[in-house]
Amino acid sequence: MTSPVWHPFFQHGLNEPIPHVVKAEGALLHLADGGTLIDGISSWWVTTHGHCHPRIAAAIAEQAGKLDQLIFAGYTHEPAEEVARGLIDLAPKAADRDPLAHIFFSDSGSTAVEVALKMALGYWHNLALDGLAAPRHRILVLQHGYHGDTIGTMSVGERGVYNAAWTPLLFDVDTIPFPHEGQEQATLDALEAACAQQPAAFIVEPLILGAGGMLIYPAWVLREMAAICARHDVLFIADEVMTGWGRTGTLFACEQAGVVPDIMAVAKGITGGAIPLAATLATSRIFEAHKSTDRARLFYHSSSYTANAIACAAAAANLAIWREEDVLGRIATLARGLEQRLDKLAEHPAFAHPRQLGTVIAIDLMTPDAGYLSDLAPRLRAFAGEQGLLLRPLGNTIYLMPPYCLDADQLDRVFAVLRKAGDAFGVSA
Ligand SMILES: *Cc1c(COP(=O)(O)O)cnc(C)c1O
Repeated sequence: MTSPVWHPFFQHGLNEPIPHVVKAEGALLHLADGGTLIDGISSWWVTTHGHCHPRIAAAIAEQAGKLDQLIFAGYTHEPAEEVARGLIDLAPKAADRDPLAHIFFSDSGSTAVEVALKMALGYWHNLALDGLAAPRHRILVLQHGYHGDTIGTMSVGERGVYNAAWTPLLFDVDTIPFPHEGQEQATLDALEAACAQQPAAFIVEPLILGAGGMLIYPAWVLREMAAICARHDVLFIADEVMTGWGRTGTLFACEQAGVVPDIMAVAKGITGGAIPLAATLATSRIFEAHKSTDRARLFYHSSSYTANAIACAAAAANLAIWREEDVLGRIATLARGLEQRLDKLAEHPAFAHPRQLGTVIAIDLMTPDAGYLSDLAPRLRAFAGEQGLLLRPLGNTIYLMPPYCLDADQLDRVFAVLRKAGDAFGVSA
């Protein structure tokens, strides 16, 4: 029996098996055939505390029976207000920077980034209307960046086979080279030169580029990039969609650099990974540029489910977990467990370039067929699946981004699978 379901980032023509999952708890997925999988990538980077967290599940159930969905254009509800206040409390802060003070809700990381870009362009548009600034339209991006799969977010992301069909529609951006180790100054110089052309904004994934291959760069580079933008009055947009909610060891990655962005996008772990919700945080000057007695100035963006009450209740429960439980302690324990095992794995001759930031580790498997389109990644995925581990390698980069509840025994099992994958697929580096 064939299914009518069309899966994302999946080639149906290769007839790869599609496991059927019936239940999840903690870091474990239960399959219809009775097997289990350890969720090594937090179901695509969203699950933070663990699947079906009781506090979040209870908040969803309670809210679903009280107020499900409300038009959000000019109406409000307590779950949204609570999440907005909580986000402002938790957002990165610095004495010498305007705080993030306004919250715009949407439904996914892509829409949170689209909203960020529209806010930045709206800011300059409205300033220009008042004769306060020259119009600015260009966006600066970091090489190898990923910000989503809509036309706008693909425009600010890396171009490649995954967006070739739409390249003619993507808007032009200026790309700053990734700050590879030893080449950081070239990145900063390129950013300085590009900022002198008065672009509207610079968008980055802070400290680690996820889909680009788990590429890590140091906090001082992030701090310098933000400082250069501030000097040139170029809006600094942090895409914390993946890095947020503790992934990098701190609640937000920007904290590690003392950076307060002008605009920040969050999604994925905002509900603990239970239900879709996203938010774009902005400083007062972005908000004020859209505030007017003139109706034509309002911020023209909405989606039907903006600030859905059930999703907001899940996010409020997640924020309560962050406030009341030692989440950072759990993250530090997991990070240490990952580090010890990664150090050992790195001694395996088939692996190279071990790297880690908080609860994210990555290592490159040395094989002759390593390109993004080679069948290595799906073969590794299938191999790991047979051993009870859900992995989704990026080309020959194997990474882990597990839920924070992964215990020592599960960690051992996960790394045993990685070691076996090295034996089965690798060649000596
Ligand atoms: C996943 C991701 C997005 C897109 O989020 P979706 O919820 O999948 O639309 C945007 N930016 C970054 C950095 C991401 O990792």
